[in-house]
Amino acid sequence: MARSVFKTCNLCEAGCGLVIDVENERVVRIRADEDDPISRGHICPKAMALQEVQEDPDRLRRPMRRTASGWQVVSWDEALDEVASKLAHIQTRDGDDAVGMYLGNPGAHNFGTVAYIAGLRGALGTRNQYTASSVDQNPKHAASLYLFGNVFKIAVPDVDHTDFLLVLGANPIVSNGSLMTAPGMRRRLRGLKERGGRLVVIDPRRTATAALADAHHFIRPGADAFLLASLVHVVLSEGLGDSGHLAAYLDGEGELRRLVSAFDPEAVAGPTGITAAVIRDLARDFSAARRAVCYGRVGTSLNPFGTLANWLVDVLNIVTGNLDRPGGALHATPAVDLATLTEMMPAGGEREWKTRVRGAPAFNGEQPVACLAEEMLTPGAGQLRGMLTVAGNPVLSTPNGRQLDRGFESLEYYAAIDIYRNETTRHANIILPPTWSLEHENYEIVFHQFAVHNSAKYSPPVLARDPRARCEWQILVELALRIAEKKAKPAGRVGLRLARAFYGFFHPTRVLDWMLRLGHHGDGFRPWRRGLRVARLIAEPRGVDLGPLGPSLDAWLGERELRIDLAHPAMAAELVRLSAERDAFEGTKGLQLIGRRDSRTNNSWLHNVPLAVKGRNRCTLLMHPDDAKGHDLSNGEPVRVRSRVGEVEVVLEITDDVMPGVVSLPHGWGHDRPGMQMRLAQANAHASINDLTDDLVIEPVVGNAVLNGVPVEVTHARAG
Ligand code: SF4
Repeated sequence: MARSVFKTCNLCEAGCGLVIDVENERVVRIRADEDDPISRGHICPKAMALQEVQEDPDRLRRPMRRTASGWQVVSWDEALDEVASKLAHIQTRDGDDAVGMYLGNPGAHNFGTVAYIAGLRGALGTRNQYTASSVDQNPKHAASLYLFGNVFKIAVPDVDHTDFLLVLGANPIVSNGSLMTAPGMRRRLRGLKERGGRLVVIDPRRTATAALADAHHFIRPGADAFLLASLVHVVLSEGLGDSGHLAAYLDGEGELRRLVSAFDPEAVAGPTGITAAVIRDLARDFSAARRAVCYGRVGTSLNPFGTLANWLVDVLNIVTGNLDRPGGALHATPAVDLATLTEMMPAGGEREWKTRVRGAPAFNGEQPVACLAEEMLTPGAGQLRGMLTVAGNPVLSTPNGRQLDRGFESLEYYAAIDIYRNETTRHANIILPPTWSLEHENYEIVFHQFAVHNSAKYSPPVLARDPRARCEWQILVELALRIAEKKAKPAGRVGLRLARAFYGFFHPTRVLDWMLRLGHHGDGFRPWRRGLRVARLIAEPRGVDLGPLGPSLDAWLGERELRIDLAHPAMAAELVRLSAERDAFEGTKGLQLIGRRDSRTNNSWLHNVPLAVKGRNRCTLLMHPDDAKGHDLSNGEPVRVRSRVGEVEVVLEITDDVMPGVVSLPHGWGHDRPGMQMRLAQANAHASINDLTDDLVIEPVVGNAVLNGVPVEVTHARAG
């Protein structure tokens, strides 16, 4: 029987509305939903991967155990019991910190994971918590915490109403926004141009977004904080800004003025590679625009001054009066607001401490993933002996992947919740595969938070689920209860067994309903009020339009008696450190490696479907013609790239789209490890950039990995 199901694509942050046509329990077509309140007919080729992964013969569908004679299917009960017993045994023997947990990026796209992971974290009770956020976005969370008092209070550019969009280290044409849910970015930028607005891009590479810009300026990798501090300095010293209605909430403007005075445009021209005249004009044009907004993303985060750079992005918006006003940077008011939701939760343990081996900072209850391998490989009290990964592939997505391979290999026991036997999970003793996206309900709880337009949409399951399959939330709850039971005293075990019998009551749809009712647009559990509930979302399957973003920050600050500290001590110290690093930045020699993103793939996890690997080799090393000449290298030749931690061989692509002194390699490749079950990916292995990135180089405020600006040498492959 034929039917159509409306669903939000949860492959990337854009969250496009899809119409999925199904016949005889098989997807026959995936198309864009023209009436989706936020994506309005946008779709990208990756959406087809939803079907390709669903039908991928390599996708795991039953729990698998590694044995001496190969991988064998085991029952759910046996698998869950073994994982709980082994992990609880290690913790009982060596302490809670002897077991670690890593949550990968796909988890953020699954309501079941976001809503239920806390239970498993609580059951394990370990400090060894890691997520992909520490190779991606923790600097942004920290900046929002320092300015607005909450890690989820992230301001997003009002791209549909601004007159001047300044983009640093981001490529929204390809990403469709990141920490800015903005599907159809090409259309939105066209709208900016049509209303006479300007787009300026600052990036070491001429990206697809830069190609559309009115102006693009190369910047030395990692130098964003110099540029931003200088822009703030010009605005303040020339009196170009007016903080508008937020002025009443600001502290420390005088101290900020003093701190940024060290960064006049002439002083930062060397470290950034951008002339003083361009910087000064940029500050003046940005301030003069009726509505302007600065947006920074991965490039501003994965560098040695990531938190400072992200903080300065918001500070620039504040001092020019562009924060909390239409056309500037605004906070979404989503139906489920993670900022207010986290305030309602019990505080739940320490949020910040130092790691065991290196003394690196933990942030927001998790340790930097750059420290994961050393926590496995360094003996002593608290050494990691057991591990659980959830929807993650840190061997490919975090620095020094080969060392992490050795770390996973050294563990006494490792279990993975994953749909693939990939570069990381091949080390597991047991893999627990959850249902794929089309087989369970979903609500994009995280990405509505960063959306450029407020909306809410419930995605029902598209296909009937095999009764033997388990959803991720079920696996998380079952494991949490079993681990807690194994670690509990006999009296507590009865209650936990009882909880295991009845946990189905807390089904995601019911939990989502409670969250919606408590949210900005909910009825607050007053049934006589017309508010948002799951029933309404089900009745309006194409999504509910909750309107454009608007000013809301003064209410947030006022209700909590918060103030915005423009001279936050941690950031003031970083500005002093930045100033001290000026000469070192200016004197950078040799080649620096940066990453890049490809519109056809999504990190490492879509490479086993035809869509992602067809066509020309996209895992090439981009190099400027002057550098190629200086190194006597030719276009299309295989080259060897070496860093402190390793080397890879890739094909060279010579282009003036990268800045002289910079080379670029995409991330997510490197499928040449034995023991995987991803045949298409293995046949298109290419090289992993994280076999070059350095685990020892981290940003000091939150410990984020520094994946951009890695010093490398490039030679003919045959020279090796
Ligand atoms: S842009 Fe992202 S959310 Fe939209 S269709 Fe493509 S993969 Fe899906």
